[in-house]
Amino acid sequence: MNIQKRKGGCQCGEISYELSGLPIALYRCHCTDCQIGSGSAFGMSMWVRQYDFNLTQSRGLPLGVLESFVRTADSGAKIEGFFCGSCGVRIYAKAALLDSKYIVLKPGTLQDTDDLRPSADIWIQSKQEWFELPTNTKHFHGQPLPEELIGSYEEVKLS
Ligand SMILES: [Zn+2]
Ligand SMILES: [Zn+2]
Repeated sequence: MNIQKRKGGCQCGEISYELSGLPIALYRCHCTDCQIGSGSAFGMSMWVRQYDFNLTQSRGLPLGVLESFVRTADSGAKIEGFFCGSCGVRIYAKAALLDSKYIVLKPGTLQDTDDLRPSADIWIQSKQEWFELPTNTKHFHGQPLPEELIGSYEEVKLS
């Protein structure tokens, strides 16, 4: 059992968390929602086990509580995003289409990401024209099945 611990948090420092265990999936999403949400060309998502994720600080709120809002994704699924109420940085989301024992972490909030590589590019039908798809990821036009994302990440870990 890998008990590697990672730390992460928001930009203003009010929210901190610890993550143990290994990710289940890690990919880039080029849907229009992720472009708006990230203010960039794509969003990155990392699935981790809910019980591997622990808030260690949420200043201004009871510990373990974050601000949240619910949106409907391009796939039609409801997603609840959790963010810092002070600086607005998104920390993680819970997606209706995903088993409730997993959460979707925003991996850019981690301090150390050296050993993490995305295994897939999804919603490439709405990707920015200039973004050249890498040859070492799986490509999906829209929303893949959870098993496809988990499977592609397994392959990356083995290679
Ligand atoms: Zn913050
Ligand atoms: Zn997306």
